Amino acid sequence: MKKIYLDHAATTRTRPEAIEAMLPYLNNFYGNAASIYELGRQSKKAIETAREKIAGLFNVQPKEIFFTSSGTEADNWAIKGLAYANQKKGKHIITSKIEHHAVLHSCQFLEKNGFEVTYLPVNSDGLISIADLEKAIRKDTVLISIMFANNEVGTIQPVSEIAKLADRYNIIFHTDAVQVVGNLEIDANKLSLDAMSISAHKFGGPKGVGALYLRDGIKIENLLHGGSQERDLRAGTQNVAGIVAMAKALELAINDLKNHQHKLTLLRDRAILEIPKITKGIKLNGHREKRLAGNINFSFPKISGDSLLMMLDMKGIAASSGSACSALSIEPSHVLLAMGLDRQMAKNAIRFTFGDENTDEDLDYLLAVLREIFSNTNIL
Ligand SMILES: *Cc1c(COP(=O)(O)O)cnc(C)c1O
Repeated sequence: MKKIYLDHAATTRTRPEAIEAMLPYLNNFYGNAASIYELGRQSKKAIETAREKIAGLFNVQPKEIFFTSSGTEADNWAIKGLAYANQKKGKHIITSKIEHHAVLHSCQFLEKNGFEVTYLPVNSDGLISIADLEKAIRKDTVLISIMFANNEVGTIQPVSEIAKLADRYNIIFHTDAVQVVGNLEIDANKLSLDAMSISAHKFGGPKGVGALYLRDGIKIENLLHGGSQERDLRAGTQNVAGIVAMAKALELAINDLKNHQHKLTLLRDRAILEIPKITKGIKLNGHREKRLAGNINFSFPKISGDSLLMMLDMKGIAASSGSACSALSIEPSHVLLAMGLDRQMAKNAIRFTFGDENTDEDLDYLLAVLREIFSNTNIL
């Protein structure tokens, strides 16, 4: 049976070159980067070379890059660490209703600990409004955290305008850029970002490694306490092989960016044109243009995203529904509810995210399978 992977927003295949780059640090160069003998220094050197490479690709300084264990850790650290380190100024945070749970649940944790959080609404395309943001700013606002692009619907936020507004009010601005790295060029300096989370496995690196960019001079509290790694700010022996592989994957992704964008935009736009023709009542979720290249998200009539997902899986197609299984019930996506979908349409949503290895034939196959499902009235 055909196997077609259309869930690149969940994770990507590790690039062979990234695997190749990490092998020496799993085999011969196993030293602890904190050790002073040669084996340790080799690991330290590999980490610092990777840091320089990554910093260069985002146009920031190497000392502004901190390695973490994941995008989730980078988000948790940014939200909690920046809030705690700057709480003398105030205890108010602004974020949006459609953030990844790594940001939302970190904010909810802070609310239990004396902070106040404003969750900005979004319009039906999933965009926040700059006017709403400005209205939400208070004297005691210490942090604005708005994601660069959404993982479910692919909507890209006006990050440059948000950063300018944050600058004007002298408020720290963090963005979760996990979905954007490898899909859009990011000049963190030019965009005037203060903090940014990234995760290797979303752009062809291995799982379990990420980074936080933090502008020089901004105070942050540790999330992890212990050794003096990462300039005393993030304790724990670094994942040398993962860090080296992340740098390699990022370099390859950015070198191939134009090609990648072009190819995925063609697949995306063809899917957006063809899928709604399959049956009446199919609705595209997310902004039509301000949207990540490989992302499509549709609500289908009469069938839940999870049921459709299982039928697609039987045909070898891997996709995603935005719903989260919590305790005993399946909860519709918080992102789609915030965009104004009713619970049924939110439950009926499914996301397909293309990657470099996908072809026009993959999309043909997806269209054929969907046509077959929707022509079979016994299933519906
Ligand atoms: C995947 C993802 C994360 C979490 O990153 P991990 O490295 O998987 O923990 C955070 N934010 C967004 C937007 C993501 O897509």
